[in-house]
Amino acid sequence: MVTLCATDLLVLVDIQNDFCPGGALAVADGDAVVPLANDLARRFQAAGAGVVLTQDWHPPGHASFADNHPGAQPFQTIRLPYGEQTLWPAHCVQGTAGAEFHAGLDVPMASLVMRKGFRPAIDSYSAFFENDRHTPTGLAGYCRERGFTRLFFAGLATDFCVAFSAEDAARAGFTSVLLTGASRAIDLNGSLDAALARLALAGVTVMERI
Ligand SMILES: [Zn+2]
Repeated sequence: MVTLCATDLLVLVDIQNDFCPGGALAVADGDAVVPLANDLARRFQAAGAGVVLTQDWHPPGHASFADNHPGAQPFQTIRLPYGEQTLWPAHCVQGTAGAEFHAGLDVPMASLVMRKGFRPAIDSYSAFFENDRHTPTGLAGYCRERGFTRLFFAGLATDFCVAFSAEDAARAGFTSVLLTGASRAIDLNGSLDAALARLALAGVTVMERI
């Protein structure tokens, strides 16, 4: 069992209605992470460690929505100025019920909600960088100022926002751990295996649970 301390941070990624069953971009079994995330958050709090949340938060005209590209279909990949982008059904639109956290998520101790994907022309899978991989969200600065050095990631979806966040955390110099047991994957065209390979290259520790 991992011993947690005050320099550890739990990052709970995108546990929102649209990524849970019944949502616009539902991840199979996505709501199963809710009680696991709650338990993790309580353990981190008891150890004096930190807890933050990320929230996918798009304007209605967002570039990642298939609806905003005439003739395009959801889950198709297109080329945008910053690189390849998978197109998604419209999801997590700012201010809608789909963008709200799952009602069962019980993490009042979270000190920060990091919203991402709010720039209309660029998507943001990672909690640290936009999908151009160099426009920062500010989360690395927050972690450094708060003295967090080891970051644990869980949530939705394993192979997109959780994996890109964990990978960028390692690249930013943090010790990075992805907890697969409290995450669920979309697994689109082999995306889970591809994500696990990138995580290994980046030096991210992948564990089922702590
Ligand atoms: Zn999104």
